[in-house]
Amino acid sequence: MDTILVVNAGSSSVKFQVYSVEGEGTLRRQIKGQMDGIGTRPRLRASGANGDSRADRCYPIEAVANVPAAMEVAGDWLRNEMQVNPLAVGHRVVHGGAEFDRPVLIDHGVVARLDRLVPLAPLHQPHNLAPVRSILVNFPKLPQVACFDTAFHRTHSAVADHYAIPHQLHSEGVRRYGFHGLSYEYISKTLPQIAPEIATRRIIVAHLGSGASMCAIKGGQSVESTMGFTALDGLPMGTRPGQLDPGVVLYLMSEKGLSAAKVQDFLYRDCGLKGLSGISNDMRELEASDSFNAKLAIDCFVYRIGLNAGMLAAALQGLDAFVFTAGIGENSAGIRARVVEHLGWFGVTLDAAENARHARLISRPDSAIPVYVVPTDEELMIAQHTLALLMNGKSHDSRTKRVS
Ligand code: ADP
Repeated sequence: MDTILVVNAGSSSVKFQVYSVEGEGTLRRQIKGQMDGIGTRPRLRASGANGDSRADRCYPIEAVANVPAAMEVAGDWLRNEMQVNPLAVGHRVVHGGAEFDRPVLIDHGVVARLDRLVPLAPLHQPHNLAPVRSILVNFPKLPQVACFDTAFHRTHSAVADHYAIPHQLHSEGVRRYGFHGLSYEYISKTLPQIAPEIATRRIIVAHLGSGASMCAIKGGQSVESTMGFTALDGLPMGTRPGQLDPGVVLYLMSEKGLSAAKVQDFLYRDCGLKGLSGISNDMRELEASDSFNAKLAIDCFVYRIGLNAGMLAAALQGLDAFVFTAGIGENSAGIRARVVEHLGWFGVTLDAAENARHARLISRPDSAIPVYVVPTDEELMIAQHTLALLMNGKSHDSRTKRVS
């Protein structure tokens, strides 16, 4: 069976999915798994196409001390026990900088160029690149493709791309990149099939997961994002603050004596819903809590989504549809209802029953614009790009369609 392996490597986990390549480039998900607890309590879990468990096993720390080791153990399992020998591997890579506006076949030169972007995403990029390197060494003939979270936003205008800082810094790469691009691209490519009447119009997509951002899409292309230079900006997230006056960072350093590394840690791990609530970064726990601070955290989250919707509608010069996606957007009827309330000034109305049953269309017929819930699938997007590059030598996914 011809397969494509998709790898999404983070600091403490490597997630992977295996897709079979079927007639006319159709991709079908066969295996979904992850090695987590890398360097602490390594554990490999995987399930098959129907959600049936294929593996659940723990490893000694020495066996899976880092990301390359995790990739090797998971790769051995896939090859030896699942008989998976992929045609190619597609990687999620957070940063493609200004240079990479589409997926790319990886060679040593590409790795060197992606390595130069590590300072722009120090907590993610090195981990994304680690399995790329180990596969290059161990399987030099296996084609690998890098798919970027930034690429979908490279259609932004120069005005949207600039901070109001001296131009030299922009030339060095200090610009508004935007992230979650694979998710937005997937939604943008899916809308013509599920909601053709809005697919080419002015849409805000709210990707509300443990990382959260919103994207303004017009004619299928990104025109603006709430995220900028790093994935810290915009909405409050599970553990990141979202938009923050840079003066707060100066205060932390000059008055509280925090080093740059400590500030980085603080901003990525201790803020957002977790910092505000003092309870958890998980929206499910906050929704179940009676605590005042849990309610405050939720209030801030939905308030900021409302504010940013206004900003993105201004970028679009109007609005024709609103789409929820990702963990919170797909699963929390309560948060969706609260966000739609914040759009009430614009004439948006919710169909509470449809929202409660997580229907695709959750607005009422009298709503000023339709509101949709569309599950995202970044891994399928990566698999499609990988197959397309393999088949055509360029990124083009119109020959692939979703079956699972
Ligand atoms: P990521 O891929 O960024 O890790 P996801 O898109 O999977 O994140 O979203 C994860 C988040 O979704 C969880 O942290 C949790 O807060 C939220 N979530 C998942 N299911 C629900 C639910 N039923 N109700 C509320 N929030 C949920």
